[in-house]
Amino acid sequence: MQIKLYNTLTHKKEDFTPRENKKVSIYSCGPTVYSYAHIGNFRAYIFMDNLRRMFKYNGYELNHVMNITDVGHLTSDADTGEDKMEKAAKKEGKNPYEIAEFYTKAFMEDLESLNIDKPSTITKATDNINEMMEMVQEIIDNGYGYETSKGIYFDISKLDKYPVLSNNDLSGEEHGARIDVDPEKRNPYDFAIWIKAPENHLMKWDSPWGKSYPGWHIECSAMGRKFLGENFDIHTGGVDHIPVHHENEIAQCKGAFGHNPANYWMHCEFLLVDGGKMSKSLGNIYRLKDLQEKGAEPLAYKLFCYSSHYRNKLNFTFDGVLSAQKALNRLREGYLKNLESTESYNDENRILDYENRFLEAINDDLNMPVAMGIVWEVIRNETKSIKIAKLLEKFDEVLGLDLKNAKKYLETKIDIPTEIEELIEKRKLAKQEKNYEEADKIRDEIKEKGYIIKDTKVGVEVEKIIN
Ligand code: AMP
Ligand code: ZN
Repeated sequence: MQIKLYNTLTHKKEDFTPRENKKVSIYSCGPTVYSYAHIGNFRAYIFMDNLRRMFKYNGYELNHVMNITDVGHLTSDADTGEDKMEKAAKKEGKNPYEIAEFYTKAFMEDLESLNIDKPSTITKATDNINEMMEMVQEIIDNGYGYETSKGIYFDISKLDKYPVLSNNDLSGEEHGARIDVDPEKRNPYDFAIWIKAPENHLMKWDSPWGKSYPGWHIECSAMGRKFLGENFDIHTGGVDHIPVHHENEIAQCKGAFGHNPANYWMHCEFLLVDGGKMSKSLGNIYRLKDLQEKGAEPLAYKLFCYSSHYRNKLNFTFDGVLSAQKALNRLREGYLKNLESTESYNDENRILDYENRFLEAINDDLNMPVAMGIVWEVIRNETKSIKIAKLLEKFDEVLGLDLKNAKKYLETKIDIPTEIEELIEKRKLAKQEKNYEEADKIRDEIKEKGYIIKDTKVGVEVEKIIN
């Protein structure tokens, strides 16, 4: 079945045509490892995971690269501000490499808890400095780069068109924040591709332009080229990458080797919190750990993300993710009921219909809300049978909710304090002794301590009361 993807480059949904039959090459902009990734960041990686899984489901062979930005990402996304890594290092009294190692490990653990399939190549910017430097030299040699006292800049006036991804008019206000009034720049939107390091800068390399370090944008251009070549299928990132980072990547590739590297550019929309931006200053940045403390597993957050198409904004609320947790448990229970059923189910046509509609949904630019609608239809199917369980397992190749381990998750509820666990055990004994009055008393005591318990077929379900 034809795969359709929305391409930011053409502003429309297109039939996907791979460069090579049944093979797909993808470059995904990875995290800047200066602090813990938040759930907004993970929305982008859940989207990346769905994309990978959808291609695999369609029988594609994947060559997927993701970078780890461990140098050169300035606080402004463009050319101003401090390097995020250096800033974090100073704050935490460590060196930037230690910071990178620590947060990369935390990021990988979070990916694992979200059951996100890892790209075949994960590469650090600092491991590819030579390739970046060579690309800068090519850009200069081809007449697109020039040196100032601050670094090497890209001359956008040399391009046939800039920007190409966004329809933004560069004279408009939207880009005002990017304009850095620097008399040494030839054009206001020229951007740094290589940055000369100040005296006290920790991450710097010898280069033809003195001790210096790469700009964030050149990193991805050079790593994409090194690992996927000068032309690959898909480049992914978040919508915030469209106006600066990805525009500049395209510009650099044109400067170095004459063309845009990726045929399809795909971008995941933002996760909002209470209708607004997630930002440190508002104190509304959440990590997966914060969700777990309130009783929602990382996989419940993944399921929560499926409530909206990746190109739509998604509003995060704790109520929303706790409902997703309940839904996830219902999904697991539904799967187990089918798995443990001895009934036979011979409505092959119905199974085929489910399969076709699921495939149609995921191939339609990853329409996860529609795909989930079909999953719930399957769960509601009156006849329970192993065939339905196998169908759900197949769908889970795309959903990545680790359904095969459903039982394990239902048995081990997350983050319940020992005190509550002990009370639950005490209540279980009271019930076994048919002392229901005592059991009810313990239930009230648990409630007073902030938890609600519910008896289900697969044991006791515990929920934290949210105020
Ligand atoms: P960074 O580590 O800042 O480079 O961001 C990592 C990824 O997370 C990028 O693809 C961003 O576009 C994405 N991202 C950042 N904030 C959000 C958000 N609130 N919602 C969705 N994606 C986000
Ligand atoms: Zn990037």
